Parts: sequence; C-alpha cells; structure tokens
Amino acid sequence: MKEKKRLSLTSKIVVALLLGILAGVLLQNHPDIATSYIAPFGTIFLNLIKTIVVPLVLFSITQGIISLKDIRKVGSIGGKTVSFYLVTTAFAVALGLICANVFQVGSGYTLDVTTLETYEAAASLPSLMDTFVNIFPSNFINPMLNATMLQVIVIALLLGFGIIAAGEKGKAVADFVDSMSEVCIKIMGMIIQLSPIGVFALITPVVTQNGLSVLLPLMKLILVAYVASLLHMLIVYSAAVRSLGKMNPLTFLKGMGPAMLFAFTSASSVGTLPFNLECTDKLGVDKEISSFVLPLGATINMDGTAIYQGVCAIFIAQIFGIELTFAQQLMIILTATLASIGTAGVPGSGVIMLTMVLQSVGLPLEGIGLIAGVDRILDMARTTVNITGDAACAVCVDRMERGKRKHQDS
Ligand code: ASP
Repeated sequence: MKEKKRLSLTSKIVVALLLGILAGVLLQNHPDIATSYIAPFGTIFLNLIKTIVVPLVLFSITQGIISLKDIRKVGSIGGKTVSFYLVTTAFAVALGLICANVFQVGSGYTLDVTTLETYEAAASLPSLMDTFVNIFPSNFINPMLNATMLQVIVIALLLGFGIIAAGEKGKAVADFVDSMSEVCIKIMGMIIQLSPIGVFALITPVVTQNGLSVLLPLMKLILVAYVASLLHMLIVYSAAVRSLGKMNPLTFLKGMGPAMLFAFTSASSVGTLPFNLECTDKLGVDKEISSFVLPLGATINMDGTAIYQGVCAIFIAQIFGIELTFAQQLMIILTATLASIGTAGVPGSGVIMLTMVLQSVGLPLEGIGLIAGVDRILDMARTTVNITGDAACAVCVDRMERGKRKHQDS
C-alpha cells in the first residue's frame, strides 16, 4: 500500500516534469507569465525544503549517534563512513574527468560568447587549513541560520556525545531528539508530497526562457555526465557492495529502486532521506547504522555532484579552447571532492559550488551560463548517484560492524 503510494507520487512527478516542459514550450511567447506566476511556486517549494533541512539533519544525526549508545562505536562507524565517502568521491571526480576527456565532451561546440552572463564566484578559494577551521562553529545559532551544514553536523555530534555522556540525566533530551527527528521526517514527507507542483514550477520557466533548443547542443554534456554516473554506480558501488558489504550488487540496486527513482525526480538528497532509510531497512541494514550513515551522507557525500563538476570543468575548458595540464586535473579532483562535501543536498546547489572548482584552475565562470539551462537534467542524475553512494556505504559499514561484533562475541 505504502509502496503503491510512493510509486504514484513518483509517476506524478514524472508527469509534472513532462507537463512543465510542455507548458514551457507553449508559453514561449509569454515568458512573463512563467517568470511572474509559475516560477514563484518553485521558489516556495525549494524554500520549504531548505527550511526543514537544518532541523532534519541536526535531529536525525543526533538521534543516530544516541542510538549507537557508545562514543567509541560512533568513532569506529564514523571513521569507516567518512573514509568510504572520501575515497568514493575522489574516484567519482576521476571517473568524470576520464569520461569527459575520452568522449571529448566539449568538442564540436561553437561558442557564442556574447550571450553569456557573467557569474560571480560562490566564494574565493579557501586554503585547506581554513576549510578545516571552518568546520567548527563558534556558536550554536549561526550555523543553523546560515545552513552551514558541516557546522550543523559538528553540533549534532557534540549534542549526541553530550547526551550519551549524561546517561540517565540526558534521557529527557534524548527522548526529545528522538521525537523531533520523527516529526522532521514527517514534515519533510509532507513537503515532498508537493514535489509535482514544485517540479512543474521549476522546469517551466527554464524551458520558456531557453527553449528546447538549449538541450540539443548540450546533449553531449548530458550524455557524458549520465554515462559517467552510470559507470560509477555499476563499477564502484557494485564492487564495494560485493566486497565490503557481501551483497549481490543486483540485489542492492533493485532494493534501492524506489529511492533512486525519487532522487531522480526530486533532485534532493535530503528530501530522499526518508525513502533511503526505508530501502536500506529492507536490504537488512541495521537502523542503528543507517540512521547515522544516511543523514551524514545526504549532507556530505555527493559522488554524483563530484562527477558533474569534473565533467563540467573539462567541458568548459574544451569549449573555451583551454588545455588543462595533468596537475590542474589533479587540482580539480581535490577541489571537487571538497566542493561536493560543501554542497547542500537540495536541488541546484551543485552548480553554485562548481564556481569554486572552475576558479581553482582559472577556468572562465561564464561557462556556467551555458550549463545553467540544463542543470536540472544534470541534477537529477547526480542526486541519484549521491543517495545510492550513501546507501552503498550503509550496506558496507553495516556488514563490517556485524563482522566485528561476531568476532568480539566469539
Ligand atoms: N541536488 C543535489 C543533491 O541534493 C546536490 C547538487 O545540486 O549537486 O544531492
């Protein structure tokens, strides 16, 4: 019954996407209608998701830590999780770069520079040490206000550790966190029900303004990004799930179907969190593990975004006729890995962080103007990879922890 409801929501989203494209084509002579009356609903939808992201991540990660009951266990699981996330993300960018180079993603494109908007960099490139320092908040409130997700995660860790250390006296807060995390998941569920409207309102103005013709010249970019995404899931996740998770990759991918479909249509990792928790539960992952690994992954693990940043960097370099050296490509791997960690799990945030990657190797930010029109289509693929990576990690960590427990028991 629940499954049926989920699937019907997904099909509604697909229909809304197609209707949105149709409406965009029909309104091409009246773009003002799309921008003044349709686009605001897309903004409302995104704002609602952004509103719930901070409390959802805060309470679900805290709750995940409390359910582990032991600070050392958090350390062991956290270490494995973060290592898995970092290694797979670096693989992802490298794969993106390889595919973009092999398929010559930007070749055959004639560039009309006059139509390009200028873009501001999201942030100047911080040094590695600054990035590290910036993970730690200086108070409880600002990270929540500014949705600085890494700092929110640190607060969740502190809160979780504090509650565990307080023992019996911390029980009231633990119950509160448990209850709040459930409430936030339910609120997210309600917002997600509005996805068909949101998706419609987001895609219509894009088509109205750019026309379907934006799609054609960028077809190669889309194709290469999709191929790289598919390869990453089939090679890296399948290998990880089989070797570390001792699970048949087909079982894994089949079990993940509903969450992947939802990520594809909603383009939000955090929005897909409730689905992901359910799918991994069905795959037999312990709730203790998934309630820590998945919300963390939805905020910091973005392999699809990393692939996209790698492919786009090469695309922009090639259409501007810039030759990237090997050292520059290594730089892209490093910055795209960091940028993907800083990308929030909501629609369209990857493109903002792309500015950081381009800047690190001196590529023209104007190139983003070309990509922006089709970003939603790219976002759908990268979000699907993002959440599948989180689930693959959950399966692997679950298995490794189980193995460890068995070893300790015997
Ligand atoms: N939309 C992606 C996500 O939620 C993030 C991105 O834009 O790359 O996972």
